[in-house]
Amino acid sequence: MEREIFQCRCCGHCCHGESTVSLTQEEVERIASHLGLSEAALLEQYLVRKGKRTEMKTVDGHCIFYGEDGLCSIHPVKPFHCRRWPLHPSILDDEGAWEAIRADCPGFSKQATYQEVCALVKKEAQ
Ligand code: SF4
Ligand code: SF4
Repeated sequence: MEREIFQCRCCGHCCHGESTVSLTQEEVERIASHLGLSEAALLEQYLVRKGKRTEMKTVDGHCIFYGEDGLCSIHPVKPFHCRRWPLHPSILDDEGAWEAIRADCPGFSKQATYQEVCALVKKEAQ
């Protein structure tokens, strides 16, 4: 049943665009450790500061960590917003958020209802 509501198509669309998700300090530290880099080196090579936000850089229209194999090269330590996409908790507060996410992600069944997706989001959060 749940597989009918959402199944990732591995299309890579969510890793493309001219910006990425914001990172917490803890996430920065985790990625730096995973790559064996200092925070300063990680920032210089892979991250960008936008005001108070720290994001991953983009290259050729996709996140710098998006691999040629179509997979995330930092999968074990990827940020919260990536781990929870597209079943992101913001869906629970706002049906409009669900409509926006659904429009961007081909993994959702066309028949999926808002209530079904909310139930799945809650289950994923457990
Ligand atoms: S956009 Fe949706 S279907 Fe495509 S890779 Fe991302 S989560 Fe999977
Ligand atoms: S960290 Fe990984 S999952 Fe997140 S946008 Fe970059 S390549 Fe995609």
